[in-house]
Amino acid sequence: MSAGNPREELAGIARSLRTHLERERAAGTAELLAASARAAARRAESRAGTSGPAKSPRDRSFDPAPAEEASIGTPRASKRPAAPPPKSAAPAPLPHVDLFGNPVAVAVARAEEPEPLDFDLPPVHAPLNPAGLAERAQITERSLPVLGRIAEEVIACTRCGLCETRTNAVPGVGSGRSGIVFVGEAPGADEDRRGEPFVGRAGELLTRIIKAMDDAQLIDGVPLTRDTVYICNVLKCRPPENRNPLPHEIETCSPYLQRQLAALEPRLICCLGKFAAELLVGAKGTVASMRGRTYRYHGAKLIVTYHPAACLRNPNLKRPVWEDMQLLAREYRSN
Ligand code: SF4
Repeated sequence: MSAGNPREELAGIARSLRTHLERERAAGTAELLAASARAAARRAESRAGTSGPAKSPRDRSFDPAPAEEASIGTPRASKRPAAPPPKSAAPAPLPHVDLFGNPVAVAVARAEEPEPLDFDLPPVHAPLNPAGLAERAQITERSLPVLGRIAEEVIACTRCGLCETRTNAVPGVGSGRSGIVFVGEAPGADEDRRGEPFVGRAGELLTRIIKAMDDAQLIDGVPLTRDTVYICNVLKCRPPENRNPLPHEIETCSPYLQRQLAALEPRLICCLGKFAAELLVGAKGTVASMRGRTYRYHGAKLIVTYHPAACLRNPNLKRPVWEDMQLLAREYRSN
C-alpha cells in the first residue's frame, strides 16, 4: 500500500466507520421489527385460539343469531369465533364535574374483572331515585308537562348550526314509568325524517333489546317497552351525513338532556355509545373501557354499553350488550 494523503486516509476511515455503524443500526432495527412482528403474531394466535363464551338459555332471548340478523337485513354473523373485546385500560380519572361544573357520574363498581381504581371516589350524597311502581307513576305524572315544555323548546331551537340542516328536531320519546332512560348520540336519517329517536335499523334493534329484557323478565314486575322507558339523544338534531357530534354542539345541546334527566328522575341511565358515556360519566374513554362498571349520575345509577348501530356493524357486540342489560337489571334492583 502506498502512503497516501493523510487527509484522504482519514476520510476513508470515517466513511468505513459510518458504513459499519449504519449496517449495525439497520441490523438492530430489523431485529426489533422482527421481534415486534413475532410478538404480534403470538398475540394474534392466542386471540384466534380463544373460543366465544358459552350460551346460556337466557341469552337466547337476545341472541345474535344469523337468522335473526337476516330478518332485519343485516349481514350474517361470521362463523369465526368472536374476538374478545379489547382489554382496555380503565377510563381516565373522573373530573367529578361536567362541562358546566355540575357534579357528574361517579364510578362505584365494575361487574366483572374488578380493577382497582387509581383515583379516589368522591362520596355519593344523592339518594337513589325510587324504583317502586307507585312512586314511578307519580314521577311520570309530574315529568310530563316538563318534558313537553322541553320538547317545544327543542323543536324551536336555533342555538347551533344543526337547526339549518335538520328536517325535524328529535326531543325524545317514552316516559319515566320504569325509571330507565336510554341515551344515544344523535338522530340519524330516519329519526330526522320522523322526529322520533331510534326508529331506523339501530332503533329496531334497541326496541328488540328492550323487548328481550321484558320477555326475560330481567326486572321482575317492571314492564319494559318503548313507552315505559325514555329514549333520547345527546344531540336533538341530526348532524349532516351522520358525522360525529362536535364538542360545541354537545355543549350547546346537552342542557336539554340534563333537564330531561332532572325531570325523569331515572333510577338507571344507560348510555348507548361513546358520546353519551363521555358526557354523562364526565371522563374520556372507549366504550370497552367504560362498560361493565356502574356509575352514579345524581340520583341515578348509570351504565355504559355499545350503541345499537355498532352492534349492526359488528354483531359480536350483541353479547356484551346483553351482559350489560343484565348488569342494568341487577343494579336497578340493588341499593
Ligand atoms: S342540536 Fe340542540 S342546540 Fe343545536 S339546534 Fe338542535 S336542539 Fe338546538
